[in-house]
Amino acid sequence: MRMSKLFVQTLREFPSDAEVMSHKLLVRAGYIRKLTNGVYNYLPLMWRVLKKIENIVREEMDAAGAQELLMPFVQPSELWQESGRWEVYGKELMRLKDRHNREMCLGPTHEEVITSIGREGIRSYKQLPVNLYQIQSKFRDEIRPRFGLLRGREFIMKDAYSFDADEEGLDKSYEIMAKAYKKIFERCGLETKMVQSDSGAIGGSVSHEFMVLVNEESENNAGENDVFYCTKCGYSANSNHAVSILNPAETDGHFDKAQITDTPDVHSIEELSQFLKVPSSVICKCLIYVIDGKYVAALIRGDRTVEETKLMNVFAGNDIRIARNDEIEEIMNNSGFSAIAGFIGPKGLKGVEIVADETVKELKNFVIGINQTDKHLTGANWGSDVELPEKIADIRLVEQNDKCKDCGAELKVTKGIEVGNIFKLGTKYSKAMNATFTDKDGQEKPFIMGCYGIGISRTAAAAVERHHDEYGIKWPVSIAPYKVIVVPVSDQDEKQMSVAEEIYNKLIEAKIEVLLDDRQERAGVKLKDADLIGIPYRITVGKTILDNLVEFKERATNVTQTISPDEAVQRIINIS
Ligand code: ATP
Ligand code: MG
Repeated sequence: MRMSKLFVQTLREFPSDAEVMSHKLLVRAGYIRKLTNGVYNYLPLMWRVLKKIENIVREEMDAAGAQELLMPFVQPSELWQESGRWEVYGKELMRLKDRHNREMCLGPTHEEVITSIGREGIRSYKQLPVNLYQIQSKFRDEIRPRFGLLRGREFIMKDAYSFDADEEGLDKSYEIMAKAYKKIFERCGLETKMVQSDSGAIGGSVSHEFMVLVNEESENNAGENDVFYCTKCGYSANSNHAVSILNPAETDGHFDKAQITDTPDVHSIEELSQFLKVPSSVICKCLIYVIDGKYVAALIRGDRTVEETKLMNVFAGNDIRIARNDEIEEIMNNSGFSAIAGFIGPKGLKGVEIVADETVKELKNFVIGINQTDKHLTGANWGSDVELPEKIADIRLVEQNDKCKDCGAELKVTKGIEVGNIFKLGTKYSKAMNATFTDKDGQEKPFIMGCYGIGISRTAAAAVERHHDEYGIKWPVSIAPYKVIVVPVSDQDEKQMSVAEEIYNKLIEAKIEVLLDDRQERAGVKLKDADLIGIPYRITVGKTILDNLVEFKERATNVTQTISPDEAVQRIINIS
C-alpha cells in the first residue's frame, strides 16, 4: 500500500480527552476515531490489526476443536426472561422496543442465545462435547466508558460456549480453553497471567481471568484490576477474589473494662484511633451497604477494607453500593436510634442483615459504635457486650504483604488489564432454560456448560499499552497492520525513489505486507509517522544509496543498521 493512498490522518497532538497511552496513541496515529461516547470507528489500519488478532483467535479456537458460528446482535427479551437475567442484568443491558412494542436488547454476551441453540440442536450425549464460538461486536452500556478501546460501550469480543455431559467433561473443555488462551495471547505478543477471579453470584463455580500486567510503567493507570500474586508459589487472583492469611494485629491491652466513652466529632477510623490513642485494629468498623435494595451492615477490623464483590457474593447479590446518609437515617429511625454515620454499631439494628468479616471474630476489648452520636463502646467483648453476628465470612480486601493461604509467603500486588475470561457455568443456564440432553442411562439431564471470552479490541489496546515509547506504537509483528515501511528520504531524488519502489515491489512479490511512503512530505514528517504508526520494520532509502546502502530499523528496539537493499529485503522475508 502506498502511503499517498492510505486512508490515515495522523495528528500532531494527543487528543485532549484521552488518559491512557493506548487511547492517546491509537487516536493520534489515525487508528480510531470516536463516534460517540464509548463507540469508535475502526479505521483501515485498526481494522487490519483487529483482523490479525481475530485470525489468531480463529486458528487457535479451531485447533482446540471449537466451531465458529454467528449469532444475532439483537436478542428478544423472552430468552432473558427464561434465564432470569432480564430483571437482574441492570443498566448495562441496552434495552429497546421494536415497532410491535416487543422488548429486545443489544447482546452484551450470548449465554441465553447459545443455550437455546444447544437446547434445539443437541439431543444425545453422543453429540457431546460441543464448543461453539463467534467473533462479534457486543454492546454494554458501561457506566464509565473510558480509556478508548480498553473500556468501550461497543467492542469486539470472541465468545465461546462449551456443552458437556458431566463435570469431568467440563473440566476438560475448560482446560483446553485455558491452553488455547495462553497460546492466543502469546501469539499476539502479550504475556498474560492466568488469575483466579470472582464468578459472580453463581457461587462455587470456577473462573479465571487472563491479565496483561501493566505495573512497570508508573504513569500508566490503564490496568483497572488489582492482581495479587504470591512471591513463592503460583497463587494469583483478582482482588475481587483474592484471599490471604492475615498478619496478626495488636488487638488487646488498651482497655480493662467495657464502658461508654465520649468520642466527639470523630468521623473516620483514623480520627477515632487518634482520639482514643489505640491502633485502628482495635476498632470494629460497621459499614452500611445496600445490596439489591436491601440493607446490610458489614463489620470489619478497623485497619482493613471491605471488598465489595466478596460482600455482595455473601448475599448472592447483583448490585452493591454504600448507603447514603438519608438511608442511614431511615435505619436509625426504624431501630429507634438517631446516630449519624461514624457511630453506627450492629446492636439493635432493625431491618438490616449483619455480616462480620473473619477478622472481627478474634477482637478482644475492642471499640465499637453503639448508635449514639459522639459515643463509642470501648473495651467491648463479644457475648458479654455485643453479640457476634451469626454470619461470618471473608469480605476483606487482601493487602500487600498479607500471607499466601497456600504457602504462607508474602503476597504482592500489581495492575492488570483483563483481556480474557474463562468460566465454568455448570447448569446455571441449562437448568433455568430447560436445556437438556438424553444421557447414557436414558435420563434427561441439563447440559454442563462453560463460557470463554476474549476482548479482541481490548487486546489490541492492551498490546499498545505494553508496546510503545514516547514516539509511538511498537506493534508486535504478528498483529501489526503492515510488517514493514519503506521510506525514501527525499521524494525529489530519483535514485532514492526508484530504489524504494524496487524494494517495495520485491516485498509485494514476496507477499509481505508493506507500506511505501511515497508522499511529498519532509523526511522528518515521514520518519515520525513511521514511528508513531508503529510499523515493526523500516527501510529508509537516503543519500547512502549511492554506496548501495539503506538504513534498516527495528521499531521494537529502535536499533538501526546500514545494509544493502537486497539484504534488507531478505531480512524482512526471513522474519516470521
Ligand atoms: P470488565 O470486568 O473489564 O468489565 P467483564 O468481566 O465484564 O469485563 P466479560 O463478560 O468477562 O467482561 O467479557 C469477556 C471479555 O470481553 C473481557 O475479558 C474483556 O476482554 C472484554 N470486555 C468486556 N467488557 C469490555 C468493554 N467494555 N470494552 C472492551 N472490552 C471489554
Ligand atoms: Mg470478565
